[in-house]
Amino acid sequence: MKVFKGKGVYGAVASGKISVFKKQNITIKRIHCANSESEIARVESAKAKTLEQLQSIYEKALKEVGETNAQIFEIHMMMLEDDDYNESIVNIIETQKVNAEYAVAVTADNFAEMFSSMEDAYMQARAADVRDISNRIITNLTGATSDGGDLYDNMIVCADDLAPSETVSLDKDKVVAFVTAHGSSNSHTAILARNMNIPAVIGVGDEFLAQINDGDEAFVDGFTGEIFVNPDDETRDRLILKQHSEEEKKRLLQELKGKENITEDGKRINIFANIGSVDNIGAVLLNDAGGIGLFRSEFLYLENSDYPTEEQQFLAYKRVLERMAGKKVIIRTLDIGADKQVDYFGMKKEENPALGYRAIRICLTRPEIFKVQLRALYRASVYGNLGIMFPMITSVREVEQILTICDEVKKELNEQGVKYSKTVELGVMIETPAAAIISDKLAPLVDFFSVGTNDLTQYTLACDRQNPDIESFCNTHHEAILRLIEMAAENAHKNGIWIGICGELAADTSLTETFLRMGIDELSVSPSFVLKVRDTVRHCNLSK
Ligand code: PEP
Ligand code: MG
Repeated sequence: MKVFKGKGVYGAVASGKISVFKKQNITIKRIHCANSESEIARVESAKAKTLEQLQSIYEKALKEVGETNAQIFEIHMMMLEDDDYNESIVNIIETQKVNAEYAVAVTADNFAEMFSSMEDAYMQARAADVRDISNRIITNLTGATSDGGDLYDNMIVCADDLAPSETVSLDKDKVVAFVTAHGSSNSHTAILARNMNIPAVIGVGDEFLAQINDGDEAFVDGFTGEIFVNPDDETRDRLILKQHSEEEKKRLLQELKGKENITEDGKRINIFANIGSVDNIGAVLLNDAGGIGLFRSEFLYLENSDYPTEEQQFLAYKRVLERMAGKKVIIRTLDIGADKQVDYFGMKKEENPALGYRAIRICLTRPEIFKVQLRALYRASVYGNLGIMFPMITSVREVEQILTICDEVKKELNEQGVKYSKTVELGVMIETPAAAIISDKLAPLVDFFSVGTNDLTQYTLACDRQNPDIESFCNTHHEAILRLIEMAAENAHKNGIWIGICGELAADTSLTETFLRMGIDELSVSPSFVLKVRDTVRHCNLSK
C-alpha cells in the first residue's frame, strides 16, 4: 500500500481505479528519420485511428447534444482528409527527413496561423479545429491516451492539474474522485468536484504521479486529504465504514428537505445552488435548493469548439428555466479569460491573465459576442424567473455600458416581435475590491448584488487563486474581505436591492451566522452543500 497526502477540498470518501490524465501538450522533438516511407505509414495509421475516434465522438455527440453541436466533428473528419493538409505533412517528412510528429505539428502551426490571419471570423475559428485534429493525430502517433479517459467505470482522475477545458472532456458519469499534484482550493477542479459531490484532493506533490499506475486500486479520503493506493485489508475496511457513515450523515440531512431556511429567532434567508451545466440541475432539485444563484454560463463556451450559437444558448437557458419551474435562476454572462481559456477566442498570452482581458472586459470590447448571449438570455426569459448577472465589474461606466447594450438587445427583440420577460433582474458581481468600495454608486443601477468571494479574496489579498504555494497567505476569513462584504450589504440595502454570496465562502458554515448578521439575503452554494447550510441556519439564533 502507498499513502499520499494533499489537501482535501471536498469531504467525501470514494474508491475506484486510478486513471492518469495525460496532458495534450506533448513536447514534440524534431528527429532525423531517413526512412520517410515508414514515417508516412505511421501518419496514415494514426489518421485512420483518429478518424475512428472522431466517428464515435460524432455519434455520441449526435445522441447527447444533437445534430447542430455534433457537426463540428464532421468538419474535423473532413479536415483530416483535406489534400493540402495531408500534402504538407508528407512534404515535410520527405524533404526535411523528419519524424511524423514533427511534420504534423509544423503543419498544424502553419495552417492555424493561416486561418487566424483570415478576415472572416468563421475561418479564424478553424485555427482551433486544425490544432485539435493535429493534436489527436500526434497523440495517436505517440501512443499516449489523450485523457486517460473512459477507461474504467469508477475512475479516480489523477493529474498534474486540470484546466477547466480539460475537465469538460471527462466522462463525468465515470469519475468518482479527483487528485491533483498541484492546484488550489479555489481552482475550478475543486469547484467542479464540489458540484459533482465527489472527493477531491489537491497539492499531493510531484512525486505522486511518478508512483502510481493506471488501473491501481485506490481510496480517496477528501476529509483528511489522503490517497491510499492498493490499500491493505484493514485500511479498506476502515474506509468502507467511513464511507457508509458519511453516507448516513448525508441521508440524515435529507430530512431537512422541504424545511425552511429560518433561524431559531425567525430570520429567513434564501439558499440557492451554483451550477456549471444544465446537467447539474438534477442535483439542485435533489438537494432542494430554492433557486440557482449562479449558472457559470462560460462552460457552454468551454464545452464547444466554436462560439455557441444564439440558438444553442437559448435552448440551454430555456431548459434550465423550465426545469426550475418558476424558481429564480441567475445566469452569469460569459466569464472566460484567466484560468478559463477557450482556444477559438484567439486570446493573446498575457503576463497576468487574472488581471487581464477577461469576463466583462471581453464582452464590452467584443459586443457582437455579448449580444448573442444577451439575445439568447432574453428570449429564454419567458420560460421562467430569470436574473442576469455580470462578472468582474470595477466601475460605474462598465455597468452603464452593459445597461445600454441590454437596452439595444431588447429594442431589437421588440422590433422583431420576439417576446421576452419584462421582469428580468439585472445584477452585478461584487468580486473586485473596487466594486465593493463603490457599491453605493453601483446599487442604484441594478436589482441585486452577488458577492464572488473567490475572486474578491484573490484581488483583495493579492493572492493568485491558482497558486498553491501561497494558500497559507490566502485567509478567506480576512477582516478586509468581511468588511468589503459588509459594506456592499449596507449599500445594497440602503438602495433597496438584495445581496447574495455565490463564491465558495457562502458554503463555509463557520461564517453563516456572520453573513446572517450582515443581512445577506441569499447564499448560493454547490448543490451538495445546500442542506448543510440549511441545517446551520436553523441552528443560528441572532437574538443572543
Ligand atoms: C467568484 O469569483 O467567487 C465566483 C463565484 O466566480 P468564479 O469562481 O467562477 O470566478
Ligand atoms: Mg469570479
